[in-house]
This record gives sequence, C-alpha cells and structure tokens, in this order.
Amino acid sequence: MPDIIAAIATAPGRGGIGVVRVSGPVLAGWAEALCGRDAEPRRIRRARFLDAAGRIIDDGMLVFFPAPHSYTGEDVLELHGHGGPVVMQMLLARCLELGARIAEPGEFTRRAFLNDKIDLAQAEGVADLIEAQTERAARSALRSLSGVFSAQVTALVEKLIELRMWVESAIDFPEEAIERSPQAALESRLAALQGDLARLRGRARQGSMLRAGLQVVIAGQPNVGKSSLLNALAGEEVAIVTDIAGTTRDALRQAIQIEGVPLQVVDTAGLRESEDPVERIGMERTWSAVARADLILLVVDARHGVTGADEALLARFPPGPGRLVVHNKADLAGPIPGGAAPLRVSARTGQGLETLRAALLESAGLQAADEDLPLARERHLVALARAGGHLEAAAAVLARSEIEFVAEELRLAQQALSAITGEFSADDLLGEIFSRFCIGK
Ligand code: GDP
Repeated sequence: MPDIIAAIATAPGRGGIGVVRVSGPVLAGWAEALCGRDAEPRRIRRARFLDAAGRIIDDGMLVFFPAPHSYTGEDVLELHGHGGPVVMQMLLARCLELGARIAEPGEFTRRAFLNDKIDLAQAEGVADLIEAQTERAARSALRSLSGVFSAQVTALVEKLIELRMWVESAIDFPEEAIERSPQAALESRLAALQGDLARLRGRARQGSMLRAGLQVVIAGQPNVGKSSLLNALAGEEVAIVTDIAGTTRDALRQAIQIEGVPLQVVDTAGLRESEDPVERIGMERTWSAVARADLILLVVDARHGVTGADEALLARFPPGPGRLVVHNKADLAGPIPGGAAPLRVSARTGQGLETLRAALLESAGLQAADEDLPLARERHLVALARAGGHLEAAAAVLARSEIEFVAEELRLAQQALSAITGEFSADDLLGEIFSRFCIGK
C-alpha cells in the first residue's frame, strides 16, 4: 500500500495564504488529529491546526477530498494556512509527525497517473502549464492537461487498432478476408492513417516550439541597431523568464515573444577576445548558446547592405542554424536600386517589423495563427516519428503483400503511439518525467 505523502504546495516565500497538501490511501482520523474536529468531504472549513500538545499552530481552513474524487485519486487533505515559511514548515512538520513523509517532486501527479486520474501526456501538461513562458504556451498546456492532445493520439490509436483487426483477419481467414478487404482497400486505409499521423506530427513539431522557445542569435556590427531592433521586436510582449534551468536571464540573453512563441534572443555584441576570466566564461556561454541556436539574425545597415565585415562575422558562426539578414535603418536609406527586396526594417519607425516577425516565425516553420497546437515534448515527437516509421515500413511490406509483416509493423506503430499517453511506460521514464516537477505538485 502506498504511504502518506505531504508537501508545501505553494511557492516558497511569504504570501497571503500557503497550502500544505497531504495524500494517502486513507486519511480518516487526520482532521480530528489536526484540528480536533471532523472534516466534511469537499467543503472548506475553518480549522485551528493543533500541534501534538494541543497548542494552535495556525488558524486557517481545511479541505478534505475523499478517494477517489481527488487529484491523486487517494484521500487528499489541504491545509490552508497563513503563507509564511515558518508557519508552513510547522504545519508540514505536524503532518510528518502524524505519519506522512515529504513528497518527492511531482509525486502527487505521479499518483494521479498511477491511479488513472490522468494519462502521461496530461501529467506533462500539468508541469508545462506551471512552466509556461507565454500566454499562448499556457493555453496549449491547458489543452494537453485537459486531454485534447491525448484524445488526438487516442483517435489515431483507435484507427490503428481497426486496421490491425482487418489485417489480422486477413491472416486468419485469408479466403473471406480477400473479398472483404482487398489489397487496394488496405492500402488506402493505411495511406489515410499515414496522412493523419503526418498532420499530428507537423502540429506537434510546431507546438513543441511554444514550449521550448526559439533560440535566436542576433549578430551584426556595432551600431547597426541590434539593441534597438530587439527592443522594438519585444515591445510590450516580454516573455516570462523564470529561474528554471536554461531560462536564467543574463546580460546577453533576453526573452521576448512573438505571437506567443517564446524567443530567447542572444546578443553576440559581447563576443570578442578577452583576457578577463569572468568575461571569458560569459563568452563561452554565449558561444554555446550560438551553437544551439535555431536561427541567426544578422542585422546590417540598410545604407550599406551586407559588407565584408558582416561576411567575416557570419563565417565565425556554426553552419547549422538558419540565417536571416535584416536591413535596419530603412528610414535613412533610399529606395533600393534594381528592385531586389531584402528584408528592410526600421527599429525607429517600426517599418517592416510585422514582416520581420512573420519571417522569424516562418523560418522556424511556425504558422502564426494556429491557436490550438499541442505543447508537445521531445518525447512525443520521437514517439510520433517512430510510429510514422513503422507505418512507412507497413506500407512497404503491404506493397509486397507480406501481410504478416504488415501486422507486425502496425503493432509496433501502435506501441509507439501509446507511449505518449503512457499506456506502456517504463519506471525510469516516469522517474525522468516526474522528477522535473516542482515539489507539492
Ligand atoms: P547596436 O550597437 O547594434 O545594438 O545598435 P543600437 O541599437 O545601440 O543603435 C545604434 C544607433 O542607431 C542608436 O543611436 C539608435 O538610436 C540608432 N538606430 C537604431 N535603429 C535605427 C533605425 O531604424 N533608424 C534610425 N534612424 N536610427 C536607428
């Protein structure tokens, strides 16, 4: 039987209220022990929390969610107290005294998953909602959390199962099946399924950018207007930067958003030779950000275009990331002779900024207006790709009428897809996913 877990569920620090959460198979008797009176299911009640000696620790509220109608599917108690770190620690200590142990990160959500309250993609949605950097990402995470993405995956799995039944009956009853499901019908069904999967994959790939954000490196000669352009692009729309690993704000890095897509912009102005050890560490970090970039935005002065110095600068960057050249200070430059139309903007007047925003999203493969992209994780993309590979293999063997192999590939495709919702998931995968949650969730 699982043990009883407890954690402070609200953020550390001081706040109006703070919540300690407890979950366990049976919490009967806990309300009595905690505040000297019984709790009514799903009703918030005034509670004076008592220590072992009967002294009041805090005066707050208690909510009791009996199993199975709770977040974890177990008995859950929420102790709402005053949001001070000492009070919260005292309440938590009291719960430990009563037999709970401190919950590990994500353990409440892990129990919700193990008790079938939510599937794995929904559990990931919980963490992604908490970590969302923009409103659009938060809305996408909420859709994952409420099961929209899971439902799309499940719909594909169901079609796959149907196709598998066709194929397997063709193996078991070859004569009858040949009439009912001739090769051509199987082929068209498989092709339709491949199309559905490809569409979901495309959307998941785009959605994954809402989660991870785009790494954009901004490069150019001094004074071409890099900082001005960055500020103009950011406008009011600055992404929320948290201290989650990898999103720490530092002098060379700025988080902005374009249409809800978080962009980490790395300014390479500070990249120069230096003897100063601290500065060198900063530069190493900048270079490693450059190496991971999705896109390099080269800003040039519209009056001079791309100069030899710009070419030399570009040569220092890795060949991997995409490149976009922007001609800034268009307000100072005359019309372009010859009619060639580079991307011309003015950080000062705002001219061309909309086009630049669209170009940035486009070069990342993102369509601006799509509102309900799944906030996919790398793990989901890998699973979708794997499933796609098996469907392709199935099509190849079907073309050679090797029906047994078709059945096997379809089975593997189904297995890959089901991993997204966690139908078959190894313990180490669960550990990996839930350990990244915050405590108390
Ligand atoms: P950085 O060194 O590349 O970051 O360049 P800054 O953003 O500091 O800009 C250098 C100078 O160019 C500043 O005086 C800006 O006001 C000016 N500037 C930047 N963008 C524009 C623009 O689009 N038009 C005009 N006229 N001036 C600009």
